[in-house]
Amino acid sequence: MTLITSDFTRRTPVAAHARGSTITAEGGDTWIDACSGAISCNVGHCHPHVVAQTIAQLKRADFVYRTQLTSAPIEELARRLCARLGYAGAFFANSGSEAMEAAVRSARLHWALQGRPEKSRILSRSISYHGSTELTLSLSGHGPRRRDAGIHDTGPIVPTPYPLRRPGHMTLREYGTACAQALEEEILRVGADNVAAFLVEPIVGASGAAMVPPEGYWSQVRAICDRHDVLLIADEVLTGLGRTGAWLAQDHFAQDHLGLKADIVALGKGLNGGYAPISCVLLSEPVHSVLHRNETGLRLGHTHANHPVSAACANAVLDVIENEDLVVRASCEGARFGRALRDACQGIDMVAEIRGRGFLWGIELAQPDHSRTPFPARFAMASRLVKAASTAGLIVYPASGFVDRHAGDAIILAPALNTPSAVLDVICSRVADVLAACDPTTPMQEKAYA
Ligand code: PLP
Repeated sequence: MTLITSDFTRRTPVAAHARGSTITAEGGDTWIDACSGAISCNVGHCHPHVVAQTIAQLKRADFVYRTQLTSAPIEELARRLCARLGYAGAFFANSGSEAMEAAVRSARLHWALQGRPEKSRILSRSISYHGSTELTLSLSGHGPRRRDAGIHDTGPIVPTPYPLRRPGHMTLREYGTACAQALEEEILRVGADNVAAFLVEPIVGASGAAMVPPEGYWSQVRAICDRHDVLLIADEVLTGLGRTGAWLAQDHFAQDHLGLKADIVALGKGLNGGYAPISCVLLSEPVHSVLHRNETGLRLGHTHANHPVSAACANAVLDVIENEDLVVRASCEGARFGRALRDACQGIDMVAEIRGRGFLWGIELAQPDHSRTPFPARFAMASRLVKAASTAGLIVYPASGFVDRHAGDAIILAPALNTPSAVLDVICSRVADVLAACDPTTPMQEKAYA
């Protein structure tokens, strides 16, 4: 009779309390949460405004079932998200995986309602993570997780731009163009009449440790999708609502160009801030109007979708993001944090690259001989560093398996968007100390991802 955790080889600490960017376990061990849990607690732990609003809603109306009644908080949340992000309709679920499933179903329905049911294939990219359900994992480019789930084919083949390992003869821009062209080739190979949508994390999250695409890639992808009547779905479950220093990560590449926005956007972690499960799919006006014209709602749903308490939570998280101006802070203070990380890690041979935007930074590790050769997967470097960081009082997030679907290690730093500057500086120096003290010469047999 025991809690089934993700790892029976160690005892997971039991949280006693959490405030801002600090978590304390029973027994007194304390950590700085440098990755916002699962890159989700974007406004810090136990923010008084979110706590108060959540309790107030719990006292007003705990739960109503979505086919019988709606509620003020969920109506307000839909209105706010659509107005703020420029979309026409919002559909809610509980997890990021469910939102991604709903995004895929919306795309297929969009074509089926126009008499094109054969337009149902979803294309996705070689380094990506879209969720843990059978459908979303089968669309994800993450070797270790696929193998664990018994999915043994090689996975999506449209390349994710990975600037660090681009062919040496290409400029960044040429490389981005080549990656976009590979999408077009795949659409032509499968037949545009069979493709419903292309799935992209505008900035890759946990599966690739904050990979930012080259300038020009996004607009070329958008143009290719338009050319072939393929919907563009942005998975912003991890990046959405400020994490990268913009409301949506796609805004870095599509700002002021409405025509460059994705047709469908999925939100999750940043929406709920880690407080209560809620996720969302946003539909653009053209997609929404096809559903509307046909008087077809989305006939899928989960018992606890549209949960009023989760919705009150999400509205309160939005209030905090707006009132504390956290998107601007993520942009400015996040850039300073990235520079400070680079400064602190200068001269550490194992650091192959520090990349990211806003408050999403990946530190990729490689053999310390400057060849950028990844460590063998059996060295489990990401896990090893997560443990060393934990001993040093820091929680960081592991990423692995992004080089040739097997090797590749990184740690991700993604503090809450309102983490005080002094705490950010402590994170930088502790990370550098942990990396500098790490001995990468002995293999360690264990799973190398979270
Ligand atoms: N999409 C992205 C980009 C994610 O990072 C995640 C989770 O890590 C998901 C989808 C799935 O979200 P969830 O774990 O809430 O199901």
